[in-house]
Amino acid sequence: MKYCKKCILPDSRPGVELNADGVCSACIGAEEKRQTIDWQGRKRTLVEIFNAHEAVNGQYDCIVPVSGGKDSTWQAYTLKNTFGLKPLALTYKCKYRTPLGQKNLDNLINIGVDHIDFTVSPDVERKFMLKSLQRNGSVSLVEHMAMWAITLKMAVRLGIKLVVWGENPGLEYGGNEKERGNPFLNHDWIRKYGVTNGTFAADWADDDLTMDELYTFTLPTEQELSDARIKSIFLGWYLKWDPLEVAEFSRTIGFQWADKPVFGYYPYADLDCDFIVIHHFFKWYKFGITRLWDNLAIEIRNNRLSREEAISYIKNNPEPIPALQIKNLCEFLGITEQSFWQIAEAHRNLNIWRQEKDGKWHLPALVGEFGFWPDTYPQDSK
Ligand SMILES: [Zn+2]
Repeated sequence: MKYCKKCILPDSRPGVELNADGVCSACIGAEEKRQTIDWQGRKRTLVEIFNAHEAVNGQYDCIVPVSGGKDSTWQAYTLKNTFGLKPLALTYKCKYRTPLGQKNLDNLINIGVDHIDFTVSPDVERKFMLKSLQRNGSVSLVEHMAMWAITLKMAVRLGIKLVVWGENPGLEYGGNEKERGNPFLNHDWIRKYGVTNGTFAADWADDDLTMDELYTFTLPTEQELSDARIKSIFLGWYLKWDPLEVAEFSRTIGFQWADKPVFGYYPYADLDCDFIVIHHFFKWYKFGITRLWDNLAIEIRNNRLSREEAISYIKNNPEPIPALQIKNLCEFLGITEQSFWQIAEAHRNLNIWRQEKDGKWHLPALVGEFGFWPDTYPQDSK
């Protein structure tokens, strides 16, 4: 396990590759983005795409999946007010939407867009989420899979030819420029970049969770997608996207920040749903990082923090175990907290963790690189 010399991400995190100088792919990508991208040109291309997809007779010009977060607030506003489109917004309703998440979603709808709040049957979601937590240590796989499937199915059924996603997961997970920038979302692309651990709904079917139940999570077939000629674009490819700038803009149109960060560094991210916190929490076991690492790495790349300042922040702001969110998740899944910790333990990455004589787990690389151990971290789970 080695850390990037520019930011603080380790190569245990998927998609992070260090070059010969010890600099990660994300840092190199960020530098290239700053120096070489012709944003004006990309914006012109975006306008051409919008013009080509203009709907007639009051139909929707595009479909836009939203969570109600800072990014989707900015997306909905930009599509409607900057580019004059008529988007249909669509949300997969997470099981523990927070009151602030609901407020922010209402605010997004009040920008003046039609909106579908899609709720999955709790029984199905419970079974699926427990399986994905046990098998992949992920509670968010269900949400990712639902977002791809529901959005694309709606686009096919309603004949909406343009889907406008937000940031591109391909940027974070590598891939060539063509695939990252402007993909035709076929099954291969989703397997590679869809953050579903390379699986499709059918991979999860068994006696307990049937294909009928998994219909919600099942993509349109390749044939349906191809016949419908749906174009999928990522707004983050065409318009410069900085988390802080987007959050500040969204705040000017009614998006509310939290008083303090829920988990990580940003008081304006991960506000919508309690379960996303668990998703980030598992990174500690799998990759040896917490959400702080992800957030602070972005701040370093955007020149708002030095590497030293970021490390000092980690040292002085240890993150607590998200006890309330864990309790809620266990309640929803119908498991004990003891089972939860057993599942977490089963996903501990033994390539990077070492158990000491006293029985506690340690990350030797972390101490080696930063020279301290954030001692209130969940290194010693139940
Ligand atoms: Zn880096």
